[in-house]
Amino acid sequence: MAKDLIYIIMDSCRYDSYVRAKTPNMDRIAIAEQRFSYASWTAPSHHSIFMGQVAHNSPTKILASEVYKKEFAKWVHRIDVPDLSFKSFIPELSLSKMLQKIGYRTTGRVSMPVLNPLTGFSRFFDDYKLMKDHNDFKGMVDEVSFSADQPSYYFMNLGETHYPYMLKDEQLPRISGVHGVMKGMDEAIARSGDVPDEEPQFFTMPEMQALHDQQVRCVEYVDSVLDELISKAPVGTHFIIAADHGECFGEGDYFGHGPVMHNKVFEVPFLEGRKT
Ligand SMILES: [Zn+2]
Repeated sequence: MAKDLIYIIMDSCRYDSYVRAKTPNMDRIAIAEQRFSYASWTAPSHHSIFMGQVAHNSPTKILASEVYKKEFAKWVHRIDVPDLSFKSFIPELSLSKMLQKIGYRTTGRVSMPVLNPLTGFSRFFDDYKLMKDHNDFKGMVDEVSFSADQPSYYFMNLGETHYPYMLKDEQLPRISGVHGVMKGMDEAIARSGDVPDEEPQFFTMPEMQALHDQQVRCVEYVDSVLDELISKAPVGTHFIIAADHGECFGEGDYFGHGPVMHNKVFEVPFLEGRKT
């Protein structure tokens, strides 16, 4: 039978946050290498991920089409299906559809509203859900189950590592106008009955540093929950753990990701390997 597959995206986790974090459970799968995302924010990056394209390593002196071909060929080994090829992804160009076609049960669990089930991202999943809380990897893991008769594909988009890097019951400095403009506005209207007229404040460098440190802590938290997921997964399950894009913490006077042209927004960790 084809191998069970778990694909985890730590939203916004830039490479050096992963490097600084202690990740004993991820280390059981593999040590991540630095790669680059195809896009600077969640939606386009997930589109590429859902096609079956993993983060790239920016190889030189090679045609892009050759890189894509080699990367798609790796799915043969990832899930142990020898007659798989790029043609298996045609015409939908969807990893999930390809897996459905060869008999997988496909489950998607996402934390970012931009990936909600009414968007096209939910296509080709047997079961797809936007989590109620943006930081509920634990809740995703609690619901996971595997079948001896049918291979499973789990895709999980984790919000713990996304701004404001909040673990349960924690409050951190946050500003409107960086992410969540609308939300900030709602809160301001609720307070004063009027739309705020002041410009949003930007973080100071010490605050940026504190936020970066917090992202590191969130990676460590994710790693601690991963222990239970590894325990539940059958031996041989293939894991991919990566990020959809990175983040700026003051570099180039940027904070966050999205409309930002900076290396740090494209640097992501990428690891894959089997449960042994
Ligand atoms: Zn994202």
